[in-house]
Amino acid sequence: MGRLAQTDGLTEIQRDILATVRDFVDKEIIPVATELEHKDEYPTAIVEGMKQLGLFGLTIPEEYGGLGESLLTYALVVEEIARGWMSVSGIVNTHFIVAHMINAHGTQEQKDHFLPRMAAGEIRGAFSMSEPGLGSDVSAISTKGVKDGEFYVLNGQKMWLTNGGTSTLVAVLCKTDEGGSSPYKNMTTFLIEKEAGFGPNPSVPGLTVPGKIEKMGYKGVDTTELVLQDVRVPANRVLGGVPGRGFYQMMDGVEVGRVNVAARGCGVARRAFELGIAYAQQRSTFGKKIAEHQAIQFKLAEMATKVEAAHQMMVMAARKKDGGERNDLEAGMAKYLASEYCKEVVEDAFRIHGGYGFSKEYEIERLYREAPMLLIGEGTAEIQKMIVGRRLLEEYRIAD
Ligand SMILES: Cc1cc2nc3c(=O)[nH]c(=O)nc-3n(C[C@H](O)[C@H](O)[C@H](O)COP(=O)(O)OP(=O)(O)OC[C@H]3O[C@@H](n4cnc5c(N)ncnc54)[C@H](O)[C@@H]3O)c2cc1C
Repeated sequence: MGRLAQTDGLTEIQRDILATVRDFVDKEIIPVATELEHKDEYPTAIVEGMKQLGLFGLTIPEEYGGLGESLLTYALVVEEIARGWMSVSGIVNTHFIVAHMINAHGTQEQKDHFLPRMAAGEIRGAFSMSEPGLGSDVSAISTKGVKDGEFYVLNGQKMWLTNGGTSTLVAVLCKTDEGGSSPYKNMTTFLIEKEAGFGPNPSVPGLTVPGKIEKMGYKGVDTTELVLQDVRVPANRVLGGVPGRGFYQMMDGVEVGRVNVAARGCGVARRAFELGIAYAQQRSTFGKKIAEHQAIQFKLAEMATKVEAAHQMMVMAARKKDGGERNDLEAGMAKYLASEYCKEVVEDAFRIHGGYGFSKEYEIERLYREAPMLLIGEGTAEIQKMIVGRRLLEEYRIAD
């Protein structure tokens, strides 16, 4: 492990967890990642290994069979996993968000029902806000839930579900029109248990996962649509038991998800730096290693500075949340900075590779197709800047 992206003040348990995960990534993920990614193959063996390490229950409280670790531990684990292969971090991320939402907002019955099996990785979560017509503007959702006795009947179409096919529990945001005048109070999160797989779902009549969306990168993990046609969900599967709280629950989930996307950016950037600095010491031009050309050294210096800055900001955002403080400002900044820096570091590592960076034989080609997803998922750069800007005006408001 190099000098970059160290974290001060970790407990022995955190250091042990990270050492175990780093070892797993080096032995079980990096050697197979590029081949699986090129084949767009789901990493079943890696997921099994992560189950055995207890990673699906990392942040779930011990009383429900998890490890009860903090957001910081989780983010550092994600950073390590993304360094190996970003898609694998995507497999745990939506699961983590849904577990967080149930733990923070669920009824006791929902916690008892879902969390122990989520901790074991037996139930795996996906979350679904986006629709074909919207991503950033959540208030515009049109998928509707209408109360019918002890059930809600859901109709609509959802888009871009990470783990949409492989998950067995989806947290779906719908419009329910039971809250009041504000659109934000008329949204409800439903917890839908389903079978893994594609096509019409055998255990949930009316629910269809049409198939995998073909993507430029972030392959291996499935990203899907979700079609709901008169899907009947029991009222006790409204997250928290009360309708109208869905928007706030989802935003809470996305907020911890943002630290997580920042962590992914840190991991991918670190790997790109490692690949770039290694290649620069192998390739010679004009009679010397390219690492000895000052222009390449400057690139490496810029890349390392970005890797370090993004890591420290991500750690700060996670620690704020773990300390019980509001962290929307820091999470927005961390997600914005880490994803932009990641794209830039990957681009520089690609350039250092010259023509070979364009070859599928080199890992940097995969990273080059993965980095852009981080600019979009969990809120685009523009949305992060809107959140950060609004918070700054709250903090620095001057008297009229
Ligand atoms: C691979 C992948 C996986 C995903 N996984 C999930 C998932 O698991 N669950 C889920 O719910 N969603 C998921 N998403 C969806 C993702 O969250 C959205 O794509 C994202 O929020 C952007 O929404 P959009 O694509 O509709 O873009 P739009 O909202 O249509 O935005 C288009 C452009 O306009 C800009 N823009 C929008 N509004 C403003 C504004 N007010 N001011 C300035 N600029 C603005 C945006 O920044 C962007 O550049 C995933 C997306 C991808 C690509």
